[in-house]
Amino acid sequence: MSEKPLKILEKMTDLDTGSPCNWCPGCGDFGILVALKQALFELKIDPENTMIVSGIGCGSQAPHLIKVYGFHSLHGRALPVATAMKMANHKMNVIVIGGDGDGYGIGMAHFIHTARRNFDITYIVQNNQVYGLTKGQTSPTSDKGFKTKSTPEGVLEIAIRPLGVSIVAGATFAARGFAGDVMHLKDLIKQGIQHKGFSHIDALQPCVTFNKVNTYQWYQQRIYKLEKEEGYDPTNRAMALQKAEEWGDRIAVGVYYKEERPTYIDELPQLKDKALVDYDPADVDFAATLQNYF
Ligand code: SF4
Ligand code: MG
Repeated sequence: MSEKPLKILEKMTDLDTGSPCNWCPGCGDFGILVALKQALFELKIDPENTMIVSGIGCGSQAPHLIKVYGFHSLHGRALPVATAMKMANHKMNVIVIGGDGDGYGIGMAHFIHTARRNFDITYIVQNNQVYGLTKGQTSPTSDKGFKTKSTPEGVLEIAIRPLGVSIVAGATFAARGFAGDVMHLKDLIKQGIQHKGFSHIDALQPCVTFNKVNTYQWYQQRIYKLEKEEGYDPTNRAMALQKAEEWGDRIAVGVYYKEERPTYIDELPQLKDKALVDYDPADVDFAATLQNYF
């Protein structure tokens, strides 16, 4: 989180933009949006020191709907954009939001590398197991056998287990929430923003139009909370990886894994005292720097 709040939110509606939203009635993206706004409000974040970056997809409309700085980027490229922003001004809160097709398909390489670099970025994935914006084709989290217009005989591949990917890649905070339990998801997002390092939050998001299998009811029959699971230790990596494999009759929500590790910026002595944007180019001796290359 940023250290110096400049402008304090007085009420949650201070985050409203008034922009129109074209999500289908009942879409899980609404629950995730409310959870994120509530989290930002409760943390008293400074809107003028906060950036939300998205990719492309239904849910990637989110930056238009929250009154902080926003950047609606390219398909699968939200994390590199966010990384550049964090490098330029690491004192800014940077939150990334996008779908499963965007982040676990097209942007998968960026997901892995941002996790291992441990940038202090919060990444929320609206996971609905389809490419919703383009009318419901199969995505990397679609279960084997799931039928869509692009796979009328059923998906042949096995599904990605995204929390396992992020934990193996080096994410220092990995959690899963559910769009149908807004308050629980809000608490996870708050923890993710407060965590210093790369925090990945997989948000299960029913797509009421194109996914008739993974519905609100389907999830409600399976979901249980990790914090109530006796003996579960989120600092135990082996335990977290085993839990990340679980999918089917039981699906856990909560914090799967967390650890403390220096962030990428922590390892850069040049940025120890001030952010890159705070340096005056007139104070930099470019000629001396260029001499090193000739
Ligand atoms: Fe939401 Fe699915 Fe409609 Fe997109 S198509 S807005 S994901 S319900
Ligand atoms: Mg999707």
